[in-house]
Amino acid sequence: MDTIQIGEISVTWLTGGRSNLDGGAMFGVVPKPLWSRKYEYNEQNQIPLRTDPILLQTKDGNMLIDSGIGNDKMSDKMKRNQGVTAESAVSESLSKLGLTPQDIHIVLMTHLHFDHASGLTKKENGQLTSVFPNARIYVSEVEWNEMRGPNIRSRNTYWRENWEPIVNQVQTFQKDIRITEQVRMVHTGGHSDGHAIVLVQDKEEILLHLGDLLPTHAHQNVLWVMAYDDYPMTSISQKQQWISYGVEQKAWFTFYHDYYYRAVKWDREGVLTEKVEAEGNKKPL
Ligand SMILES: [Zn+2]
Repeated sequence: MDTIQIGEISVTWLTGGRSNLDGGAMFGVVPKPLWSRKYEYNEQNQIPLRTDPILLQTKDGNMLIDSGIGNDKMSDKMKRNQGVTAESAVSESLSKLGLTPQDIHIVLMTHLHFDHASGLTKKENGQLTSVFPNARIYVSEVEWNEMRGPNIRSRNTYWRENWEPIVNQVQTFQKDIRITEQVRMVHTGGHSDGHAIVLVQDKEEILLHLGDLLPTHAHQNVLWVMAYDDYPMTSISQKQQWISYGVEQKAWFTFYHDYYYRAVKWDREGVLTEKVEAEGNKKPL
């Protein structure tokens, strides 16, 4: 399994699903001749992506960043339309580490779009239940409110079956929240109004998870914003702020969607100086 250390915290990528999404949608207004130099695409103009939750094994408990695409929420038609080629195998990943979903103490949700939140719940004997029954689930208040009362655009991605079974586990926050001594979340907006990022620090080492503000390493340019973003100018200013912070701090930037890289470091000139490749997926370009 792919893993890095942040001080004494073990960071491991779990298997949360795979999909092929339209390259144009993933790179917004960026012309194909530009983005196609940075990321592989297939004959249908789709790019390979993952939806892999990140496990943090900390002294204060086991945490997950986002939950994967789940196992039983999507019809075949839905999977075809969303380009989903594999669903989650999160409990299988956890068992390789000697853990079960019961051992997750905290879930940090960057946002609640279906490809991030469907792994929070599952069907059991015809009933929807929580996948991580012992976890406190952190999400921004704006995101939680929009999920329960989506607008005409966002109702396609905020699904009732992903929130109803976990209502009692959710802890919301406004601007930012210190989860533990080592872990913080900060509301950014941009991708969704309630989008948040995760900062992890132990000793001198920092992990910066920018969620869907930085879905892959190919989105390093602050202007390369997905067409899915509800508030692109907010995404741009938040990327400016947080990417330069991460570069100054020599932080690991981590990815939930990147097919090729789990984590990278960039220098002040934007040159990639360190990388953790996904096992068995060497970048072809
Ligand atoms: Zn996403």
